[in-house]
Amino acid sequence: MIVLVINAGSSSVKFTCFDMAAGRKVLASGLIERIGIDGTSMKYTNHRGEVIKGEVPVKDAKDAVKVISERLVDPKAGVLKSLSEVKAIGHRVVHGGESITAPVIVNDQVKATIRECFAIAPLHNPPNLAGIEACEAVFPGVANAAVFDTAFHATMPPHAFLYGIPYDLYTEHKIRRYGFHGTSHAYVSRQAAELLGKKPADIKVIVCHLGNGGSISAVDRGKCVDTSMGLTPLEGLIMGTRSGDMDPAIVWNIMRIKGLDGPGVDNFLNKKSGLLGLAGINSSDLRDIEAGHQAGNKQCTQAIETYAYRVKKYIGSYIAALGGVDVVAFTAGVGENSASTRALVLKGLQGLGFKLDSAKNDVRSAEPRLVSTPDSPVKIAVIPTDEEQEIAGQTFDLVNKK
Ligand code: AMP
Repeated sequence: MIVLVINAGSSSVKFTCFDMAAGRKVLASGLIERIGIDGTSMKYTNHRGEVIKGEVPVKDAKDAVKVISERLVDPKAGVLKSLSEVKAIGHRVVHGGESITAPVIVNDQVKATIRECFAIAPLHNPPNLAGIEACEAVFPGVANAAVFDTAFHATMPPHAFLYGIPYDLYTEHKIRRYGFHGTSHAYVSRQAAELLGKKPADIKVIVCHLGNGGSISAVDRGKCVDTSMGLTPLEGLIMGTRSGDMDPAIVWNIMRIKGLDGPGVDNFLNKKSGLLGLAGINSSDLRDIEAGHQAGNKQCTQAIETYAYRVKKYIGSYIAALGGVDVVAFTAGVGENSASTRALVLKGLQGLGFKLDSAKNDVRSAEPRLVSTPDSPVKIAVIPTDEEQEIAGQTFDLVNKK
């Protein structure tokens, strides 16, 4: 059974085509970027290693899905004989609000819920819905599944998701913490259990998803009980360009100092802050900031230390929330690749049961692995995330259940 996974963003559409019967083999993947801007381009790679790159005449999500569909059946580089082989399409959707707590087959009601969340996810939900509607048009009759970033966090109890503000803001306006990156947290927490030879239902896991966006979650026997992102992805860890947690009064101060209005300060805290703002070298990429630190740039050193300290504080608070932890798993661009960040985050935590094996930590690998010593009371894991595979799996399960 062929499952296509679509991740439609504001100016890009990413796709991965899986053959589920062949052990979830990736037949083709790629992306179209700069949609609606000059120089729209596509990168397409198939399982034979053929790569096609170039400009494509794409002005919206529907054009993008059409071009992707044509590539999939292209006589030379294609991987399918006919589009009728595609039995289901899984879509990454960022916000499902309170009512959607699991992956769902898209119908009018699901689309209405995605639309209702436009106000709290204005950058993500509109293009996500456009991707779904594009697939409905290009692949008529094929089931579309929506897999929500918020869904895995739906098990958070009220004491974890409520803010300390008047209760009617929750009951009437749904202002609460939702959490994001749920697909990654679900996948990595399950993989962590597998790595330990345990069932998810038997262990407590802290997942540190440290990428350009970053979030951390506390997973108690398979269920998320807390996560660092909130109503929007701005809360929590210091990220590439997002501030993460801060005194809300800073908002009014930035507005005054920088002469910004509401949307202006929102953009400032989402796009100009985090590592980008702290390090001051015009890059949000930790590799550049690590290079600055190596070269003796003290602001870069301070940015890295501030970033890692925030992760450490969350790990400590989630050990308290869980009443102990069996394994801490690092994932995403920084978590998978930056051994020095992992070491800095865990520095001084021996008293809490973390014994990092420095030699293992320094080995680069694309495989899930333990980087703690064999006698470490808390295991430390590095697990490459695979949100596309998780979306494909959830879509497959949903369609077969149906
Ligand atoms: P993601 O959002 O998961 O794709 O992560 C992207 C981010 O991971 C980049 O912006 C970098 O900050 C970071 N990253 C990727 N590779 C490395 C590396 N080798 N060392 C440090 N940071 C890295």
